[in-house]
Amino acid sequence: MSRTPLFAGNWKMHKNVKETLEFLEDFLPLAKDIPSEIEIAIFPPFTSLYAAFEKLKGSGIKLGAQNMHWEDKGAFTGEISPPMLKEIPCDYVIIGHSERRQYFAETDDTVNKKVKSAVKYGIVPIICVGESLEQREKGETLSVVLSQVEKAIWEVQIEDGGKLIFAYEPIWAIGTGKVALPSDAQEVIGAIRGKLSQIYGSISQDVRILYGGSVKPDNIKDLMAQPDIDGALVGGASLEAKAFYQIATYNRG
Ligand code: PEP
Repeated sequence: MSRTPLFAGNWKMHKNVKETLEFLEDFLPLAKDIPSEIEIAIFPPFTSLYAAFEKLKGSGIKLGAQNMHWEDKGAFTGEISPPMLKEIPCDYVIIGHSERRQYFAETDDTVNKKVKSAVKYGIVPIICVGESLEQREKGETLSVVLSQVEKAIWEVQIEDGGKLIFAYEPIWAIGTGKVALPSDAQEVIGAIRGKLSQIYGSISQDVRILYGGSVKPDNIKDLMAQPDIDGALVGGASLEAKAFYQIATYNRG
């Protein structure tokens, strides 16, 4: 079976409505040239989602949010619910990004609640997992990452592999310019697929697993040559239309 490559641009806390529209003015003409067998999604801040949705109409480019609460409504000041994302509508939501785990007290338990909720509402979660430098140096990478995977999907039932996406993002590679060696990324991502296959059986072959961490136009090709890497979650380089386009067209030479 073949998994559609996905290039997902996580804009973090960058680009207001005006800047979002300016990016898309530049990116949409370029994106017409991206083959339909490659999927592109952007993840602007909440305040830019609706403007992005309007501008993306008819382009085939998907839209996602960077976070959400697990409840559908309630007294949760400052939070955004899954039905609010569905209303836009968003196709995807990033769950458990390491910046949320580090700065906003996101835990494996809250990640699990959000994943369950996303699946219930039909928003495909991109579940982020990854080890710190200290954990890598102590040889704990696989145990840390596989434990995050297992806890994220605890009691999550899916009928097909398209309902979940993972992103392996070593924390030491995010925003640092230090990309993982393709063979190291493959080792971890292959192990994630192995864990998914223990849990979900053959449908794990349809779950896309992305790599994230300092992906740039000049390193994406070697990462994509790895058998289990199905695309990339791109931070910094997705803020620039040309660089994001070059990443998505990595196989042009
Ligand atoms: C990210 O934030 O998910 C990320 C991978 O960032 P960067 O590409 O800038 O390292």
